[in-house]
Amino acid sequence: SIVVTGATGHLGRSVIEGLLERVPADRIAAVVRDQGKAADLSGRGVEIRVADYNSPETLKRAFAAGDKVLLISGSEVGQRGPQHRAVIDAAKEAGVALLAYTGVLGGPDADFELAAEHKVTEQAVLDSGLPYVFLRNGWYHENYTRNLAPVLAQGVVVAAAGDGRIASASRADYAAAAVAVLTTEGHEGRAYELSGDVAWNLTEYAAEVSRQSGEAITYSTVPAEQMASILTGAGVPAPMAAILADVDGAIARGLLARTDGDLSRLIGRPTTPIADAIAEGLAGLP
Ligand code: NDP
Repeated sequence: SIVVTGATGHLGRSVIEGLLERVPADRIAAVVRDQGKAADLSGRGVEIRVADYNSPETLKRAFAAGDKVLLISGSEVGQRGPQHRAVIDAAKEAGVALLAYTGVLGGPDADFELAAEHKVTEQAVLDSGLPYVFLRNGWYHENYTRNLAPVLAQGVVVAAAGDGRIASASRADYAAAAVAVLTTEGHEGRAYELSGDVAWNLTEYAAEVSRQSGEAITYSTVPAEQMASILTGAGVPAPMAAILADVDGAIARGLLARTDGDLSRLIGRPTTPIADAIAEGLAGLP
């Protein structure tokens, strides 16, 4: 089977949709921690395997010999090292044919805090000896476009990213790359640096939001400490706020700007322009 963890998350759902277009549903398995969230997938013929990254016992049932597995990195920042380790151990024990992992753009070169757990995970995959492929995902457009409502309300995009460029792509683009890797051959041992074809900066982003919305939107770059306190003010827990402000520092240093072209090559089309994601985000506003 082709097995997708995190299958009830945003990326996972998009991967399952893509797989359903290419392979029979009975060859697809979704690893989920909450069976209730997967009723629709089950209804479409996808096999559901219930397992939690926090519980190695449950992971024993998640994989079978010969499976091609996509490990979608977890969302519980700070706990992902041992969580991913447990998944890798279970995959190794089962004897899977391929383990694909969604890491971070730059892999070992990504020196920001949020990347640390991805680096640990890639190393654990290498140490396992399993056939692997690294999908090193750059930033999602949606990290920005999900904030369009407050941006329009305040007339400003605030970040600590300076003039740093961001080669983001849509979540659907990254999902399509995962589908390509899971349904075609020749990816074993590869590390794909997945990012958008175009790197933009937040001044350009604010200008595009202005153009499309008809509202005057500017970009304000602030020091990292101020960014962290703005985020905590908006309800983000302090440790996560610091990590996100630190990501902005990495953007300022150009770490999320690389445009290797691996993503468009894998999906066989250009990546989705940020302008399209802005249009979609604006269309979705009340
Ligand atoms: P989501 O938060 O939508 O999905 C995360 C998935 O991981 C969910 O399905 C969730 O399960 C599952 N998960 C979390 N913890 C566990 C656990 N303990 N056991 C089993 N499953 C678990 O994120 P996205 O789909 O948008 O993104 C996928 C991953 O990519 C994120 O988890 C994160 O690591 C990373 N990411 C990357 C970004 C980027 O810009 N490159 C931006 C944001 C995240 P459930 O559905 O039950 O909640």
